Amino acid sequence: MKIVKTIKEVKDFVKNCKKQDLSIGLVPTMGYLHEGHKSLIDRACKENDVVIVSDFVNPVQFAPNEDLATYPRDLKRDAALCQAAGVALLFNPEPNEMYFEDFHTYVTIQSLSDELCGKTRPAHFTGVCTVVCKLFNIVTPDKAYFGQKDAQQLAIIKRMVRDLNFDIEIIGCPIVRECDGLAKSSRNTYLNSDERKAALILSKAINLGMNLAKNGEKDANKIVEQMKSLIDTEPLAVIDYVKAVDANSIQIVSEMKPPVLIAMAVYIGKTRLIDNFIYEG
Ligand code: AMP
Repeated sequence: MKIVKTIKEVKDFVKNCKKQDLSIGLVPTMGYLHEGHKSLIDRACKENDVVIVSDFVNPVQFAPNEDLATYPRDLKRDAALCQAAGVALLFNPEPNEMYFEDFHTYVTIQSLSDELCGKTRPAHFTGVCTVVCKLFNIVTPDKAYFGQKDAQQLAIIKRMVRDLNFDIEIIGCPIVRECDGLAKSSRNTYLNSDERKAALILSKAINLGMNLAKNGEKDANKIVEQMKSLIDTEPLAVIDYVKAVDANSIQIVSEMKPPVLIAMAVYIGKTRLIDNFIYEG
């Protein structure tokens, strides 16, 4: 496996692959890889001749008050995981490789970023779309892999690919959880032992919501309210949002007409965690 820092090295590698008619799968990540990332990488390795993983904490998607500086990083461990999984190229650029000092071009998505995380983190999805767009242009993959864990992000990337005519198939992969239900996340490392226990309230609320939906509750607000009440029983939890939206348009719905995405962001202490499920009917 090659580890490269420059766009030119990626492009040269890609050119070589294309000459040999090899299909390319891309897995964009911010590193500090865990089983969730690995599930995307494994699927990409199964479905493509060559897999490229990007490992880049994208500064543009963080607001000034967010955790850019403290976001966990461990390239050595990431490289070992990628190597063992069969990744061909690990792209780990410095921010100044991706963004010129006078970088002024951004990709913004309307409407789909109005709710959920887009509401709380107004510039976030512009940062995500911009970096993913750049990675798509650099790598020109056949397929790109994203987790359902970031459900709004997945819906936005699918729409961006359609709207901007990228010839790339976007593959959504299911949420990977710890044995006790907590969705795997690089940010789980921020939690102390009390917070780690308290964080279980997210997956408990997801299970509650899923059961209510499965048992025929048609009123989305009732499901959301019951989930919120459950989360409020945990003293360390502060709700950012729990909302029901149409899974494709990310617009608020009041009726459980599938596909409905019920998504949440909850602070456990200072750590903001997200989780969701999609009701397919
Ligand atoms: P990140 O490094 O957090 O930007 O995540 C990189 C990719 O991995 C994104 O497409 C995420 O949705 C996906 N991902 C992160 N955590 C999980 C998880 N627990 N299960 C499935 N996919 C995940």
